[in-house]
Amino acid sequence: MLVRAHENGVKKIVCIGTSHEDSLAARDFAEAHNDVYWTYGIHPEHASGVLSDVSNSGSRRSLPSPWAAGANPRLASLRTLLRSDISTTPSSKLVAIGEVGLDYHYEGYDRDAQIKLFREMLELARDNDLPVSFHVREAFDDFFEIVKDFPEVRGVVHSFTDSKKVLKRILNETDYFVGVNGLATYSTLPTPPLERIVLETDAPFLTPVPFRGIINECAYIRNIAEWLSEKLGEDFSTIERETTKNAERLYRI
Ligand SMILES: [Zn+2]
Repeated sequence: MLVRAHENGVKKIVCIGTSHEDSLAARDFAEAHNDVYWTYGIHPEHASGVLSDVSNSGSRRSLPSPWAAGANPRLASLRTLLRSDISTTPSSKLVAIGEVGLDYHYEGYDRDAQIKLFREMLELARDNDLPVSFHVREAFDDFFEIVKDFPEVRGVVHSFTDSKKVLKRILNETDYFVGVNGLATYSTLPTPPLERIVLETDAPFLTPVPFRGIINECAYIRNIAEWLSEKLGEDFSTIERETTKNAERLYRI
């Protein structure tokens, strides 16, 4: 997959964590490969599971020890974990917190747990001076309300799938980048201005045209860039240069 990515002009890769275990796997992968970076995130769909694991010692899922003990164990031990990663590794490849956020799409979602976890992750991002990859689905009212309390936190609204009106609010009320991925190649989503776009795969999901139906991977960033070039009427090289610049600025890589 990395070879194919390089053959298609993808030089740097950010491997996104979506759960505690998954994030640490991303860390190990990043540490083993040049020009691969990682993020620490807990997807909002895991929010209630994480909280109940902490409050009941007979947990539903067994999480690794950083989650185990103390008054506010999750946040405290995560702080230690992330800080030690940043400070003991001068070339730490941890470049963001995320995916974190709010997702009210599926029935039975736990709004309170999601908000609590989201706020904690925003504190982590702020205290470690890291940007955030936001996952927000059908929850933008709460999202805008919460991020107001963290004006210093930078980020990207990943896989944006909402209306023109919401896109306008992101562009006008925040400095966030907006993640554009394969979904754009087969839907009618509003397109953000080039200076605010970060290209992403959201792999293994959302494979772009013409590869729909197979597993998504980094090499297909090229196809998303080609689509964007046509959509915006800009040279491919301009799209390549500008979206790379945005991603490098966001993640400081
Ligand atoms: Zn997501």
